[in-house]
Amino acid sequence: MRHFRLSLCIVTLFLAGSQNAGADDELRAGVAVVDVTPPIPFRMSGYFMERLSTATKDPLHAKAIVFQQGDESAAFVFCDMVGISFTIAGEARAKASEATGIPVDHIAISATHSHTGPLYYGALCEFFHRRNVAKLGGDPHDPKAYREDLVNKIVAAVVDAKAALQPVELKSGYAIEGRLPFNRRFHMKNGSVQFNPGQQNPNIVRVAGPVDPQVGIIALAPPGADQLSAAIVSFAMHLDTVGGTKYSADYPKFVEDELRKSFGPDFTLLFGAGTCGDINHIDVTKLDRRDTATIGQMLGETVEKAMQDGELSADGEASLAVRSTKVDAPLQSYSEGEISQARKNLELVGTRELPFLGQVEAYKIVDIQRRPGKSIPLEVQAFRLNQETAIVTLPAEIFVEIGLAIKAASPFKTTLVIELTNDSLGYIPTKKAFAEGSYETVNSRIVPGSGEKLVEAATKLLKELE
Ligand SMILES: [Zn+2]
Repeated sequence: MRHFRLSLCIVTLFLAGSQNAGADDELRAGVAVVDVTPPIPFRMSGYFMERLSTATKDPLHAKAIVFQQGDESAAFVFCDMVGISFTIAGEARAKASEATGIPVDHIAISATHSHTGPLYYGALCEFFHRRNVAKLGGDPHDPKAYREDLVNKIVAAVVDAKAALQPVELKSGYAIEGRLPFNRRFHMKNGSVQFNPGQQNPNIVRVAGPVDPQVGIIALAPPGADQLSAAIVSFAMHLDTVGGTKYSADYPKFVEDELRKSFGPDFTLLFGAGTCGDINHIDVTKLDRRDTATIGQMLGETVEKAMQDGELSADGEASLAVRSTKVDAPLQSYSEGEISQARKNLELVGTRELPFLGQVEAYKIVDIQRRPGKSIPLEVQAFRLNQETAIVTLPAEIFVEIGLAIKAASPFKTTLVIELTNDSLGYIPTKKAFAEGSYETVNSRIVPGSGEKLVEAATKLLKELE
């Protein structure tokens, strides 16, 4: 059944034909999808330059799923954008909580990390905005209206997902997709570690870290139905396979297309970015790269095969519960001189007058000054859906080693670790990577050791839920 609410372009997808609310202890779920494609032209996010959108390749969405069992409830929203700011996530969570009664800390708002979405928050957004105002007397791409619209649409998606709650059966497990992800950091002949050193670079000695080939899958269907109606899927590989100036949700769009071939046009994929801070799709041993559609199709086929071949388990007894905590991560500190130099250097972003890492550092230093206080409370949430299945959410772009460590320590058979939730603050590398250096450590705002603290905190929450 589909409901169209034209004012917000919301499509609500009911998960079952049955309208019975069912017993109180039954797990119920509801899904809603809202279009959050910005106007054209609008500044785009993903690279260190001012870049305006020219068209829409495929629309951007915020996809919400609400779970309820007895008095427990939880909501996830997955947004097709590079990140979600803590202020916007904070506002949306507060309003969604007020509207639905779902506690704020049971709501997770994640970004999929598409590099072909809007630039609507952060130090670069503010800088480009101010520069336009100074030059033109106004900013034709003022992000304020979009921010307000986004908050309202996220809230509407959660409200509609709750209204769509229906009894649901859950299957979970992992598929394996080792062909697509590559660790993008390498030890080089000169002794350094470099990110994205270029394909067939003769100075590469060896890769500096692992990948996570597990695709976490939580598949949902109405009781007794022969078709799945929705799935949460998480995979650790950067969504930066499109580029250019057209809006796109990147490869998850093609994963959903692939799954709809089997499960029908109303099937909804809710894609959560795995811990892919150091992982992308570039195979440095080759000269070519897979395109977005091929990646999406391959991943889609892998997920579909796991769903069809009975590789997912339906044995877990539903037992919805949520825990969360905050890890205090000290911010990197800079002197007044360094801060004023960084503000000057921000003028050079997108030019050739400052080396790339100098631009990244300027942006990072200015961005840190936008944070209140000397540390960031990194929020960690753990959701138990059933006795076998958990979801952990983390803020920022997380190194894959951190996700792997959480999964290894998790008492649950299937654990999805989803990054870029409720906040975006550049990268959270491992201590080892901080010692090695390169782009991700320059584009990190917190001190070394914070990533390891996230592992401890997430593991503790998962064990509480065991
Ligand atoms: Zn990234």
